[in-house]
Amino acid sequence: MPESFDLLVIGGGPGGYVAAIRAAQLGLRTACVEEAELLGGTCLRVGCIPSKALLESSEVYHRTLHGLQTFGVHAREVGFDLAAIHKRKNAIVRQLTRGIAGLFQKNGVQRVRGTARLLAPDQVAVRSAEGEETIWTARHVAIATGSVPATLPGVEMDGDRIGTSTQALAYPEVPGRLVVIGAGVIGLELGTVWSRLGSKVVFLEYADRILPGMDSEICRKARRLYERQGLEFRLGTRVESARVVEEGCVVEVQGAPALACDRVLLATGRRARTEGLGLEELGVRTDERGRIQVDQNLATSVPGVFALGDCTPGPMLAHKASEEGMALAEFLARGHCHVNYEAIPGIVYTDPELASIGRTEDELKEQGVAYRKGEFPFSANGRAKALSSTDGLVKLLADEETDRLLGAHILGPRAGDLIAEVAVAMEFGATSEDLARSCHAHPTLSEALKEAALAVTGSPIHF
Ligand code: FAD
Repeated sequence: MPESFDLLVIGGGPGGYVAAIRAAQLGLRTACVEEAELLGGTCLRVGCIPSKALLESSEVYHRTLHGLQTFGVHAREVGFDLAAIHKRKNAIVRQLTRGIAGLFQKNGVQRVRGTARLLAPDQVAVRSAEGEETIWTARHVAIATGSVPATLPGVEMDGDRIGTSTQALAYPEVPGRLVVIGAGVIGLELGTVWSRLGSKVVFLEYADRILPGMDSEICRKARRLYERQGLEFRLGTRVESARVVEEGCVVEVQGAPALACDRVLLATGRRARTEGLGLEELGVRTDERGRIQVDQNLATSVPGVFALGDCTPGPMLAHKASEEGMALAEFLARGHCHVNYEAIPGIVYTDPELASIGRTEDELKEQGVAYRKGEFPFSANGRAKALSSTDGLVKLLADEETDRLLGAHILGPRAGDLIAEVAVAMEFGATSEDLARSCHAHPTLSEALKEAALAVTGSPIHF
C-alpha cells in the first residue's frame, strides 16, 4: 500500500522539484511524481540548460573566429566539432539532472516515476510506463506540470526538419538555411546558436517588432545589433504553412514569395500542459488558455489542490516557477507566502545579452505613470572597453515623485548577471538614489548601473 504524504507534487521541473525539496526541508513528508526518466523538467532537459550550453559553445567559436584580433591574439585553423558540442551539452544536462535526484535523496523527497492524474483532491493515480497504476494519497497536491511548445495551424511538424526548440537543440548538422517562426526569446537564442555556427537564419514574425512585451526602445537597438550579426528579420509576416518537401522545407507566407530552407524552427511560444490531469472532473478552474487559475497562495479553486510554474498564468520562466515552488512550501508549512511578480527578471542570452525587470517604458506611458529615466552606454564603461563589448546601454526607470525603481532594461555584456542588482534593489523598495549612492567596484560592468542611476536625477560622471 503506497504511503500517504503531506505534499505530493506532480512534475519534477524547476517549479515542482524546488517545491518538493523546500517542503521536505520544512518538515513535510513529500513526494514528487515525474513521468520522464530525468528530473529537472523542460528547463534542465530541453530548455534553459541545453540552450545555454549551445550558446556558450557557439559564442566561443564565433569569438575565436571573428573577435580575437581585437585582443591582439591570433589563432589558426579555427573550427568546431558539432558532435563534441552536443556531447558537452548532454553531459551538462546529465550532471544537473542527476544532481536533482541526489538532492531528493539528501532531503528525503520520495520520487515516484510515472504519469499522474488526479482522482480526488487528496488522491493521485500514477501510471507507469508499463501501464501499471498505483494510487497515492496526500493532504495537499501541487500541480507543476509545466508547458509544451505551441503549434501553429498550417505548420506540419514532422519532428525532424520542421520542429520545435527540442529538435533545434539537437540538429545533427548545421542547417544551410534555417527559418525561425517567431522572434521571441527561444527563437532568438536558438537562431543565434545556428547562425554563429554558419546557418543563414531568417526570422518570420507576425508582430511588427522582435521580442514582443519587452521594452520596445531597447529591442529596437537589439535588433540593429542582431542584424549586424547577419540575422534577418521579416516582421509583420503571417506564416500560412510550412511543410517538408523532397530536399528540405517550404514556408508559405501571406503576400510574399514562399521561402525554401533546410529546417524550420517553430518558436511561437508555449502553452500550459494541463490536459489529462483530471482537472475538469475535479472542478479545478482553468482559463481560456488552459492555465490553472490560482490565488496569491497558489491555491486552485479546489481546496487542497495547488498549482505553480508554467501551467499557471505569468511569465514562463524557470525562476518564476522556482519562486512559486518555494512560496508554496512555505505556505503549507508556515501558513504564509509571497511572490513579488513586479520583480521577476527576464533575460535573452544573445550577444549582447538583454535583461529586463519591472515595468517597461511603454507600460509606464500606457498606464500614465510619471517617471524619470536614466541611461548609460557601455561604450563609456571601462570594463566593457577591456572586454571589447561596448554595444548597448543600461536604462533605469524610477517614479518621478518617490524615485522608487520601477524597471530596468539592460542591453549589453553580462546583462543577465547585472540585472540581479536591480532585482535586489526593487525587492527592498530602493530608489535610484540608493543605487547611485552604493559603491560599485571599479572597473566593473556594474558601474554602468550606478551611472544610469546617477542619470535618473542628475548627470552621470563618465558620459
Ligand atoms: P517544466 O519544467 O515544464 O516541468 C514540468 C514537468 O512535469 C516535466 O518534467 C514533465 O515531464 C512533468 N509532467 C507533466 N505532466 C505530468 C504528469 N501528468 N505526470 C507526471 N509528470 C508530468 N526559462 C528561464 O527562466 N531561463 C531560460 O534561459 C530559459 N530558456 C529556455 C529555453 C528553451 C529552449 C525552452 C523550451 C524553455 C526555456 N525556459 C527558460 C523556460 C523554462 O524551461 C520553463 O519556464 C520552466 O521549465 C518551467 O518550469 P515548470 O516546473 O513550471 O515546468
